[in-house]
Amino acid sequence: MLRAAELIERKRDGDELEPDEIAALVLAYAREEVPDEQMAAFCMAVYFRGLSASETYALTDAMIRSGETVDLSVVGQPCVDKHSTGGVGDKTSIALGPIVAACGVPFAKMSGRGLGHTGGTLDKLESIPGFRIELGRDEFIRQLRTVGMAIIGQTDDLVPADKRLYALRDVTATVEEVSLIAASIMSKKIAAGAESMLLDVKVGDGAFMKTRERAQALAESMLELGRRAGRRVVCEVTAMDEPLGSAVGNALEIREALAMLRGEGPGDLTELVLRSAAQLLALSSADADEAEGRRRAEHAIASGAATDTYERWVSAQGGDPDERALPKASLTLPVVADRDGFVIALSALGIGRAAAHLGAGRLRKGDPVDHATGVLCLVKRGARVEVGQPLAEVHARDEATAAAATAEVAACYSIGSEPPQPAPLVLDVLT
Ligand code: URA
Repeated sequence: MLRAAELIERKRDGDELEPDEIAALVLAYAREEVPDEQMAAFCMAVYFRGLSASETYALTDAMIRSGETVDLSVVGQPCVDKHSTGGVGDKTSIALGPIVAACGVPFAKMSGRGLGHTGGTLDKLESIPGFRIELGRDEFIRQLRTVGMAIIGQTDDLVPADKRLYALRDVTATVEEVSLIAASIMSKKIAAGAESMLLDVKVGDGAFMKTRERAQALAESMLELGRRAGRRVVCEVTAMDEPLGSAVGNALEIREALAMLRGEGPGDLTELVLRSAAQLLALSSADADEAEGRRRAEHAIASGAATDTYERWVSAQGGDPDERALPKASLTLPVVADRDGFVIALSALGIGRAAAHLGAGRLRKGDPVDHATGVLCLVKRGARVEVGQPLAEVHARDEATAAAATAEVAACYSIGSEPPQPAPLVLDVLT
């Protein structure tokens, strides 16, 4: 007989629970035998006391066991996956997938939607006319075999306990606990079946993790969970103080990912995608280290193989791969510099919010998104600018939202007299 109240009390008092106690509690919650109020109290106890590595793994494992898992061994080749904890302008997966797949390594990703100031890969993909994010399991596997990649929405039968628990944490102020976040992310990644995975923990004003210490702790916890589950994992901690690349907004970001695949992407995005591809290829190929992985990734871009793979992938999921088919906003307004100087900061959070207010993101779960709108940051941190020079473009559906967003975007740019110190994009890599 499960005594939930006793487990809550022991966790509240700082005890370490046994793995089977955690498993019993989580699985009973998933079966609706433990009510929300007890699970909320448990999460709050965890928020203050934390979970040990063994408790975190027990939680992750139980959440995985609450639903179905994907067996990717039937693809016939080990698959790779990638996850970002979320940021602004992060279209990495949309460029990374075709590059890795063009290098012969299947890329299998289940993805999520954006909320608040952060964008979601599924929303970006749905800006492509016809693109289907829901594939049946057989179709998913078939596409991995034939095209070498698929990015789809997470199916309902995967980790249902996390779905319930996350919704509860969301309304009980218990989301921001590192072990709970690590277990939530890794349960979904492990259940989705890839043998190797790259995790990108974003840190900065536009990220979930605001400090380097918390980002590092999350990275270490996720790495440990992957190791215990027998997966190969590499974890990057990367800066999210300014948007990644120039484009923020769904169709705008697809265009930028396509430019990146042609070798014409912005420097920061290109560097992150190439580093990530090199890491994934080294992790999953017996005959490539990181330098060789990078060489192969660069070749996939230069030869056109990455763009070909993008086109085959998008067509396979019902989308129109022609860039000209992407929606365009009816109104484009410039945001100009009000003084000479250097861009010393460009707030990722502010740009993400401005894009959301333009309709590119959702303020509440379930809100529709406008795929055409967003912000193009023409200059970023470190750039020298002159008064009157365009800093950014606002892509809007009407005059009113355009005017409001123009003021918001202008406020995101800090211009000073001296150039800022260069800031690294990749802060740490943990293996
Ligand atoms: N993303 C998740 O999937 N889970 C969390 O707990 C936080 C972010």
